[in-house]
Amino acid sequence: GFNCGIVGLPNVGKSTLFNALTQAGIDAENFPFCTIEPNSGIVPMPDRRLDALAAIVKPQKVLPTTMEFVDIAGLVKGASKGEGLGNQFLANIRQTDAIAHVVRCFEDENVVHVENRIDPAADIEVINTELALADLDTVEKAVYRLSRVAKSGDKDAKTKLAILERVQPHLDQGKPARSLTLTPDEHLHIRELCLLTMKPTMYIANVAEDGFSDNPHLAVVEAIAAEEGAVVVPICNKLESEIAELDSDEKAEFLADLGMEEPGLDRVIRAGYGLLGLQTYFTAGVKEVRAWTVKVGATAPQGAGVIHTDFERGFIRAEVIAYDDFIACKGEAGAKDAGKWRLEGKEYIIKDGDVIHYRFNV
Ligand code: GDP
Repeated sequence: GFNCGIVGLPNVGKSTLFNALTQAGIDAENFPFCTIEPNSGIVPMPDRRLDALAAIVKPQKVLPTTMEFVDIAGLVKGASKGEGLGNQFLANIRQTDAIAHVVRCFEDENVVHVENRIDPAADIEVINTELALADLDTVEKAVYRLSRVAKSGDKDAKTKLAILERVQPHLDQGKPARSLTLTPDEHLHIRELCLLTMKPTMYIANVAEDGFSDNPHLAVVEAIAAEEGAVVVPICNKLESEIAELDSDEKAEFLADLGMEEPGLDRVIRAGYGLLGLQTYFTAGVKEVRAWTVKVGATAPQGAGVIHTDFERGFIRAEVIAYDDFIACKGEAGAKDAGKWRLEGKEYIIKDGDVIHYRFNV
C-alpha cells in the first residue's frame, strides 16, 4: 500500500486531522484491515462508484481501497540538528510516499501557537527549511562518497555527482528538491537518497469554520503552493473531527445543513491519492465488490499483482468493462450484449474505473 505522512508545527491541528481520518474509517462497515497503531491508520478511499456497482451486483461484501496516514508529530525548528527528537521524526518522514503539510490558518486565542503568532508563510518556512537542511546533509555525504568513487573513473558516480551538484545549491537556498526540474532519468539516479523534499507534497490549510473564503492566511498558503506547483486543500479540522464522530444518517444531515456534499476529509484522501499518481480499478463479483489501487500507467498484469502475486505471474487475459458502461448496461451481461465487454492482453494499460475480471493460470 501507499502512505502519506502528516507533518507540521506543533498545535496546528495534525492530530485532530489524523484522528478524524482514522475515526471516519472505524464506523465504515466491513473493515478487516482497520488495525490502527497509535500514529498510523488505514483510511478507506471514499468512492461513490462502489455503491453504484454494489447496487447492481448485490455482493455479500463491499470493500473500498485504502491509504495509510501517519501522524508525524514533533517536527520543530532545529529538528535537522537533532533537536527535540529531530532525527527520529525525519526518519519517519523518510519512510512515507507523500507528505501532507498542515498549516494553521485559523485564529483562536485559546489555542497557543508555538511562535505566538499566526503566520502561515513563516510556519511553512520553518518546516521546509528543516527538511531542506536534512536533505542537504544527505546530499553532502553522498557527494563526498561519490567524488571518491568518481575519481577512479566510475561513470555512474560521475552522472550522479553532476545531478547532485545542481541539487545541492538549490537546497542550500532552502528550496525543496521537488521544485528543481529534473528528467525522469535524473530522478531515478538519485532516488536511492530518499530526499524528503523530493516527496510529493500537499498543503492542508487548517481554516476556521468560516475561513474558506476571504481568508488572508489561506491566500498566503495558496500563493506559496502555486510557486512550488503544489496542491492546497483547505479544510476545517475541528469541524471534520465533529463530522467523523457521527453515524452515516446524522452525517448526511449535518453535511446538508452545512451545504457540504461530502466531508472535507474526502478531499484530503483524494488529494493524497492524486499526489501519488494513483488510480482505482474494480472487481465486481457476487461475493465481493472491491476497489483496488494501481499507479496510473499500470498494465493489466501489474493490476492483477495487486490482488495476488500469483495472478500477475499466471496472467492470461483481462475481461474489462469501463465503469460507465458497466453502470449504463446494468452489469456484465448487459455490457456483453451491448458490445462493451473487452478481452485485453498483457500490454493493456488499466484505466481509472475499469471493472476487471482476471483470467489466470495457477
Ligand atoms: P497538533 O499538535 O498539530 O497535532 O495539533 P492538535 O490537533 O493537537 O490541535 C491543537 C489544538 O488546536 C487543539 O486544542 C485542537 O482542538 C485545536 N484545533 C485543531 N484544529 C482546529 C481548528 O480548525 N480550529 C480551532 N479553533 N481549533 C483547532
